[in-house]
Amino acid sequence: MARQFDVDTWYNPAKDQFIFSEKLSLSGKPISLTVEVSDACNLECPYCLSESEIKKAAELPDSLVARLEELAPFKLILGGGEPFILPNIINLLKTMRAANCSIYVATNGVHIPDEALAYVDCLDIHIDGTNEETYFRSMGKNRFAQVTNNIEKVVASGVQVRLNCVVNNNNYGNIPAFPAFCREKGISDLQLIRLLPIGRAKETNLFVDEANIKRLQEGLKEHSDLSIHFMYADLNRTKENWFKAYPVFDNQGNLLILPEHKPSPKKIFDDTIKDIFNKYKQFLRTSPRSIRKE
Ligand code: SF4
Repeated sequence: MARQFDVDTWYNPAKDQFIFSEKLSLSGKPISLTVEVSDACNLECPYCLSESEIKKAAELPDSLVARLEELAPFKLILGGGEPFILPNIINLLKTMRAANCSIYVATNGVHIPDEALAYVDCLDIHIDGTNEETYFRSMGKNRFAQVTNNIEKVVASGVQVRLNCVVNNNNYGNIPAFPAFCREKGISDLQLIRLLPIGRAKETNLFVDEANIKRLQEGLKEHSDLSIHFMYADLNRTKENWFKAYPVFDNQGNLLILPEHKPSPKKIFDDTIKDIFNKYKQFLRTSPRSIRKE
């Protein structure tokens, strides 16, 4: 039986420490792999955690596409920046679909090419308001109509949709309207993400205080027909302070361990994909910062 790395990797920012777990699997393929394809975006949210900005996205190098194809994870997660503005995104999706990957894309939903829907399994669509005004206040651009049209298009295509909303002082009052908005659009998955002082958000004063987060949480309990996940709602619980981290490839093909909400990824390897999982395994065994779960 081949050994398989479980990519559930957790990062404790207070101790700057990673915890990894390994699992047995019947296959040598990675279970899931996240690729941050670009730091270019077609929006420029005032709090962007990845500090992405409006600029032309570069093509993903052919060499990286070939490496991903070789690796063929069960689940490929594409994030950024905005993946759908990459000039060669369709080629990447086609290639990875042919390699039997399930493909998840995190997008702001401003531009979703029709052709992409033939290759993706799930889209995480970022929308911070259920109306034009709140959307503009939170995300800084007037794209509400475009995004809601695209949400409807994706739902009609049968591709799974989860809505992602970053909870901050500019949209806090609108959050209770999200469950009805989800039902109206035929969506059952909603992820709320509490704004943390990371990336551009550090320069803002948009953080919702503890009491209001708790009030929101309480109010959401009545919507048990929906699957609602509120990330980092309770920062005081020890478990919640262990932020999730992922093995991530950047757009040059470097493997990084990227804590979900840490501004500078730690580059731990900088060579090719060929022996990457052997090295990952080695890292798990030897890094003084890693603790292996039993
Ligand atoms: S938060 Fe998302 S949509 Fe907004 S600028 Fe950053 S990457 Fe783009």
